[in-house]
Parts: sequence; structure tokens; C-alpha cells
Amino acid sequence: MTKINEKTVQKLKRKLKEEKKSLEDELKKFAKKSKRLKGDWEADFPLFNGETGGAALEAAADEIEEYENILPVEHSLEVRLQNVNLALKKIKKDVYGICEKCKKEIEIERLKVYPEAITCLKCQGK
Ligand SMILES: [Zn+2]
Repeated sequence: MTKINEKTVQKLKRKLKEEKKSLEDELKKFAKKSKRLKGDWEADFPLFNGETGGAALEAAADEIEEYENILPVEHSLEVRLQNVNLALKKIKKDVYGICEKCKKEIEIERLKVYPEAITCLKCQGK
């Protein structure tokens, strides 16, 4: 297996940073960073403007439905962002590319496609 070299790590680090930025931009569209929990994001809850009556209720129901649709999207973006941050932290600590489960090196081909991978192909999905 090809050992991961410094040059590749730097390349993947750039890729991770770009991904971090685009994930954050994506999240910012409908969520904001949690003040309570570091690294956590909260979807904006629809704001009701205080109107009453059937039409306002209908609009509110639509907004709640939208919110419910957004939550899983928000969650998956958030998980990806956390993995990206974790990978960046690992690069810093010089333990990047080590599988979380079997402690062996993650396939370089895998890291090139999926730089935030925390497990090797064998351990993935186990
Ligand atoms: Zn493994």
C-alpha cells in the first residue's frame, strides 16, 4: 500500500478546507452556529409574524413542514462538517489517514475521493 506523503496530505488539507467552507456556506442558508454547543448547528425555526386567522395558520403549517424537511438535510451537512473538522484536527496532530477502528492506514485512493474518511474501506459501515 502506498504510504500517504506530506505532499498528498497538504493537497487533501486544501480540499478539506474548501469543503469546510462550502459546507458552512450551505448551512448558513438555513441554520446558524449553536451558541450552546460548539460545532453544532441549529436550523432556523420559522418565525411567525403574529398574524392570526386561517391564512396565517396555513402559512405557519407550511413553514413547519419546510422546517421538518430541512432538519435531515441540516443534520447530514452538520455531520459532514464535523468529519471535515475532525480530519483537519488529525492533520494537525499528525495522525491523519489512520482508521478509527482498526488503526491501520486508510487507503490513499479512498482519502483522495473522500478526504474526511475516518475509517478504512474494510471498516466502513461496520
Ligand atoms: Zn479499518
